[in-house]
Amino acid sequence: MDCVFCQIIQGAIPSQQVYADEQVYAFRDINPQAPVHVLVVPREHLPGLPALNDGHAALLLALHRAAHRVAVQEGIAERGYRLVVNSGPDAGQTVFHLHYHVLGGAPLGRFGR
Ligand code: 5GP
Ligand code: ZN
Repeated sequence: MDCVFCQIIQGAIPSQQVYADEQVYAFRDINPQAPVHVLVVPREHLPGLPALNDGHAALLLALHRAAHRVAVQEGIAERGYRLVVNSGPDAGQTVFHLHYHVLGGAPLGRFGR
């Protein structure tokens, strides 16, 4: 098993947990790009968006609800936050275990280059 996020979920690599339930684990990004930068990941190993199928509908809802819950918990839900999924090389995806970035805590720049 060489997936860094699977190892984090299993506790083999330490992480700063922010939220957890049966399907989802959320923890602080090791290299934060905003005052609040939390990663929300499914416990199930999925390499990324292309791996999603009809059977993942409930999991996607759980991930989105967990992301919003993290934002509320972190005190950024009212002022606003951004939910980001990087998919593939042009987006700079580096970890091939599906994850949502929850970014906020300050006004964010626009996306793209
Ligand atoms: P990606 O570019 O694939 O969407 O983002 C992967 C994210 O995972 C990066 O923001 C990176 O900082 C974060 N990351 C990579 N390895 C670790 C780790 O071992 N621990 C934590 N907490 N975050 C990590
Ligand atoms: Zn994994």
